[in-house]
Amino acid sequence: MRITVRVPATSANLGPGFDCFGLALDLCNEVFVDTEGEPGVSWEGEGADELPTASVPVFSLHGANRIPLARGLGSSAAAAVTGVQIARVLLGPDVQPASLSLIRATDEPAPHRCVFLVTLDDGFERCGIHPQRPYVCRTYPARFRHGSVAIRDDVLCPPDAWNISGLDLPAWRLTMLRQELEWTVYAYVVSRWNATVTEPVADAAYFAWLLDVYGRLEAMRAELEPDVWDETVRRWLDVSGSSPAPAFMERVVAVMSAG
Ligand code: SF4
Repeated sequence: MRITVRVPATSANLGPGFDCFGLALDLCNEVFVDTEGEPGVSWEGEGADELPTASVPVFSLHGANRIPLARGLGSSAAAAVTGVQIARVLLGPDVQPASLSLIRATDEPAPHRCVFLVTLDDGFERCGIHPQRPYVCRTYPARFRHGSVAIRDDVLCPPDAWNISGLDLPAWRLTMLRQELEWTVYAYVVSRWNATVTEPVADAAYFAWLLDVYGRLEAMRAELEPDVWDETVRRWLDVSGSSPAPAFMERVVAVMSAG
């Protein structure tokens, strides 16, 4: 059996979908598997010398790695997705995605490190972009539960990682509402991109479009009176007829349409 798996780089290290979701780029890794071929692993392309070849499978695997390593284009995620897709084809449809995740996690030699995590001289690790860190990081490990701020029960960090009793929950709630707002805007940005792009676009053109869009959206937001903006964030999940959310999204649509 011969399998070709093609997985794209993504924008998931940019914007409010940080590390959770992103737009697929036309820069793709390709991995070729031949179950009848000489067992072994080989690579060509970006960082080929750094990619593992020691774990010899029972088939031939050759990869064309085009996504640069550790440059924020999702090379680790692409590798994981590639492995899962190969497993799905080889192991058959009866193997459920959860089982495949466990296979991948077991085989992964080291936990995923955020590219912004830096090691200080004293050995401690810190966020290298803490003041500008994404909202998904600012709100972790909290989430909305029935409209209230609640601590997730599936966190990976030890119980003493946060001083829960000392948390400023009202401030945290505002940050989470801002995150919800950004997710809504981002979903609209994604829908506009998908609606207008009909053929492959160079990465540079895509990033230029993204920066232009968010530059114009940010200029629109900065023109809002501070009390209007604060009210928009504070009542973002408000579903009453007086909610400021629809008016804000009308501005977003107008900004996007003017581009
Ligand atoms: S807090 Fe900073 S280092 Fe940690 S995941 Fe977020 S961006 Fe990365």
